[in-house]
Amino acid sequence: MYQFQDLAIHLPEHRCWVLLTPTVQTVLHQYRQLEPSDHEAGGILLGYRRGDIDLELTLATEPTPKDKRGMFSFFRSTWHHQDVARQQWMKSGGTVDYLGDWHTHPENHPTPSSTDRREWSRLRSSSPRPLIFIIVGKADMYLEGPDRKGYRFLLANPT
Ligand SMILES: [Zn+2]
Repeated sequence: MYQFQDLAIHLPEHRCWVLLTPTVQTVLHQYRQLEPSDHEAGGILLGYRRGDIDLELTLATEPTPKDKRGMFSFFRSTWHHQDVARQQWMKSGGTVDYLGDWHTHPENHPTPSSTDRREWSRLRSSSPRPLIFIIVGKADMYLEGPDRKGYRFLLANPT
């Protein structure tokens, strides 16, 4: 297993930073669609807001059921049930915030589909706070910030 370090991504257009903890990077890395038989995966991004717009991503939920129990166990749902998980989380009044979504594409350098854009618009209009969206590709990742501009990044220093 790779050991990731904190990764801070600067969104200059929005004058903010997005921090991905190693925990989040490990999940994103693990679900890359490297093989044709790999299915699309996705989940929701949870974490903290530092000030108005700086975002610290501390948890990326996983699409497949796990036997683990814990405070996030209600997120055990498929990609298609993600909406339910999101709504539950938003209603739960948890100490961490819903910050956005992630999912995979079987592309080296992923770009949002028209479906992605529709879905993100819908989510943004239903959230009073800034959201970010990540698409995990085979070679790099696409992050769309609150300003709706896209940024590409690599995971931090796999050794
Ligand atoms: Zn997509």
